[in-house]
Amino acid sequence: MKRIAIKIGTSVLTRADGTLNVTRMSSLIDQMAELHGCGTEIIIISSGAVASGRNEIKIEKKLDSVSARQLYSAIGQTKLINRYYELFRNYGIICGQVLTTKENFSSRVHYLNQKHCMMVMLENKVIPIVNENDTISVDELMFTDNDELSALITTMMKMDSLIILSDVDGIYNGAPTDPNADIIQEITLDENISNYIVKSIQSSFGRGGMQSKYRIAKEVASKGISVIIANGQRENILLSLLRGKNTVIHTKFKPAKKSISSVKTWVSYSKDFAKGDIYINDGVIKAIKEIRTVSILFVGIVRIVGNFEKDDIIRIVDKNGFKIGVGKSNYSSKEAAKYIGKHSIKPLIHYNYLYIE
Ligand code: GLU
Repeated sequence: MKRIAIKIGTSVLTRADGTLNVTRMSSLIDQMAELHGCGTEIIIISSGAVASGRNEIKIEKKLDSVSARQLYSAIGQTKLINRYYELFRNYGIICGQVLTTKENFSSRVHYLNQKHCMMVMLENKVIPIVNENDTISVDELMFTDNDELSALITTMMKMDSLIILSDVDGIYNGAPTDPNADIIQEITLDENISNYIVKSIQSSFGRGGMQSKYRIAKEVASKGISVIIANGQRENILLSLLRGKNTVIHTKFKPAKKSISSVKTWVSYSKDFAKGDIYINDGVIKAIKEIRTVSILFVGIVRIVGNFEKDDIIRIVDKNGFKIGVGKSNYSSKEAAKYIGKHSIKPLIHYNYLYIE
């Protein structure tokens, strides 16, 4: 059985005036229903809330950008999910809404709760439709865009592949407006093509651009999951990608052979929430580079900066403060400070909870 995450961008779901493009939505749902009927497990990461909410209401006085985003997303999300619900129901398929925030990925308990919720949904053949909870995530801790959210969901749920649908055919080896530019069909992890990507390629309503899609696709592929960037405005795109033999143009990221453990995946997500810095000596750095599966012992720690509690995420840095990785602390900063440089004490970070960048 296959498990596929499908990220659908605002530019695919809405028309230029912000109204929902129901014809396109229903065509995508026709295709997903067919895949679902053949046993494919699907998770949708859907944008489009803010754009479709904006179109719904005429406001009397001008709103600041945070208030506008909160208001539009609150209205638009109901419109969006209702439409998905009705369209899937035509096929006897049930979908459900999962709204999340970046912070939910930093707390192990919340992370496991949302994972559990989606597992139960999949087990019961319900299609999760995920979006950021834009009504409450309005500060610097929000997702860069739904591409970032789709990457977190894909790795958390150990999907077989992620399909990112936007309004371009894939990544070009030049500006898409240049007649000589072509779509790059396959990108391997050791290639760096970020110079090709023109910064201005961004839809008018959504937040994500091609640079962020590229960065995210590489990150997901490095975790052993294949990623496709394709044009959601093309007819029958999903079935062509999944069933056709290279019949539709797209960019594919070749996945790494290895996959990383789910605990390490979670630790890697939490890096933006680290509460302290652990300075380690050169010996530990050497060991990390050579063996990789090492725990952080007190004997290799030279300094601890910051205030953290047991189970908080902390950063590992070299003597110049250069970040090596992140991990979950077995001690509070107060307690840990007492053991700096000491032997024969339970590690500060166990290797299962250590993520090296
Ligand atoms: N969560 C936003 C919405 O539903 C989209 C964010 C993005 O454009 O990536 O409108």
